[in-house]
Amino acid sequence: MDLFKPMDSKPEGSSNNKPEPAVSEHVKCLILGSGPAGYTAAIYAARANMKPVMYTGMQLGGQLTTTTEVDNFPGYPEGIDGPTMMEDLKKQAERFGTQVRFGMATKVDFSGRVKRVEIDERTLIEADAVILATGATAKYLGLESEEKFKGFGVSACATCDGFFYRDKVVAVVGGGDTAAEEATYLAGLCKKIYLIVRRDELRASKAMQKRVFNTPNIEVLWKHQTKELLGEQVVTAVELYKNKGEAGEEVVKLDIDGFFLAIGHTPNSEVFKEYLETDNAGYVMTIPGTSKTNVPGIFACGDLQDKVYRQAVTAAGTGCMAALDAERYLGELE
Ligand code: NDP
Repeated sequence: MDLFKPMDSKPEGSSNNKPEPAVSEHVKCLILGSGPAGYTAAIYAARANMKPVMYTGMQLGGQLTTTTEVDNFPGYPEGIDGPTMMEDLKKQAERFGTQVRFGMATKVDFSGRVKRVEIDERTLIEADAVILATGATAKYLGLESEEKFKGFGVSACATCDGFFYRDKVVAVVGGGDTAAEEATYLAGLCKKIYLIVRRDELRASKAMQKRVFNTPNIEVLWKHQTKELLGEQVVTAVELYKNKGEAGEEVVKLDIDGFFLAIGHTPNSEVFKEYLETDNAGYVMTIPGTSKTNVPGIFACGDLQDKVYRQAVTAAGTGCMAALDAERYLGELE
């Protein structure tokens, strides 16, 4: 792979090939991603004198920065809000010498012993070990109208955007814990919530289901699927299929002001897939009981490799594992 030629080497072929970035730095331990997994890996790696450099990704602090109250992270008896918790983790990682930088991995070459990671298409970092903690991203339905109204009535984060829909009518799509949580959160702000569920049952935990059923301004629309969003500048209504594909299928229209997606997440593994084994949903595979991937020197932690637990505390735990595995790996190289 010739992706990472130094600046002064001439690109082959067409003259409009972009010059590849020059190697700007060699680091011992590179961490990609700044959620609880990345920061925990950074704390351990820095304390073990691995001089970690972290690139945060576009969402500094990861998914937890879109959460209000975190009540289930051990050590916070009164709970803590997501952004504050992530800021604290950042400070803790920096206190031991982690260099935290804003930037996103745009290309990688994991073929050699020295790993190469291009950041923002312009900086090339070489690393002896790389810890991947790039997390997962919310899924969308894939409708044209959904794309058109992103930020104009369509959101994948109730806790980020719910504020804008105070006393309004909104719809939440999904039947899992996220949908249940977002619907109950929005119920505290909005006049009315339609929960659009494609089957005749929720996937959410029994406790979350109970909360949904006990919230008077949430109406569950069973066996409904989104057809299209309507509106001019902003969303004003949604068309839904009821009983799609069955006798009695019909299209219903609801007037709404906001439309929230809560249908799961996609792991952010696209840029690494050429080198790493992933499952069919794209989650990076690790050797059970470790953070080791199929490539020596590449370690994965957090939601990037976990589709089962996906909690801040489990992400932090696997971040710790990744730093310890990387430390051992580096020790064996010396
Ligand atoms: P899940 O994968 O659990 O649920 C996704 C939901 O969206 C399902 O109900 C699914 O329907 C529905 N869905 C998927 N695609 C579509 C589509 N195209 N159209 C309509 N509906 C669709 O994702 P979550 O984000 O809810 O949860 C992920 C994990 O995180 C879970 O393990 C969950 O328990 C955990 N979690 C825990 C929380 C907590 O403990 N406080 C809070 C939030 C999440 P169907 O059921 O028919 O497949």
